Amino acid sequence: MNVVILGPQGSGKGTQAKLLVEKYNYFYFESGEFLREIALKNEVLRRIMDEGKLVPSEEFVAYTEAYFDEKQIYDNILFDGFPRQVEQYRIFKKWLMTRKIKFDLVFVLEISEKTTLQRLTLRKREDDTPDVIKERLALYTEETTPLIEELEKETKVIHIDGERSVEAIFKDICTKLN
Ligand code: AMP
Repeated sequence: MNVVILGPQGSGKGTQAKLLVEKYNYFYFESGEFLREIALKNEVLRRIMDEGKLVPSEEFVAYTEAYFDEKQIYDNILFDGFPRQVEQYRIFKKWLMTRKIKFDLVFVLEISEKTTLQRLTLRKREDDTPDVIKERLALYTEETTPLIEELEKETKVIHIDGERSVEAIFKDICTKLN
């Protein structure tokens, strides 16, 4: 079963993803980390990420497909932060279909903008400046919200209240998974 976890920055999705990987042994695909690795050798990519913009869909999906094909991994994947927009999903869906797989379950962590901002001021990452945080939040509303609506038509999407303790959220997710 392939699972996707989505949520705005600071929603705690990375934390939940790691707990899920520990418990269920998923193959963990974290899009931001995946791109940061590639960006070490790609200045154009680095600039896009430093500004909090989305990496062009065709390019990102091409990297992702090559990565999984090389590893021959098609099941039990936890996608964290990907897909992030409708176009990306539509491109990637073709690849999923040719591999006869799909996103089986999607979790969406929900938190208010206020909580997001509070949590991110506690995190210290180079691209966590106020302007970049705002850019990423705007992108989530503009790009990821329509994606969630599209996913809802095609697969099982579960909305999770992210304004609780890590343990409470994790318990909730595990219950839904079982
Ligand atoms: P994150 O670590 O998830 O906050 O991602 C850091 C940065 O990587 C984002 O601001 C984007 O520039 C880029 N990025 C991560 N995931 C994606 C994606 N699915 N599509 C396009 N760009 C992405």
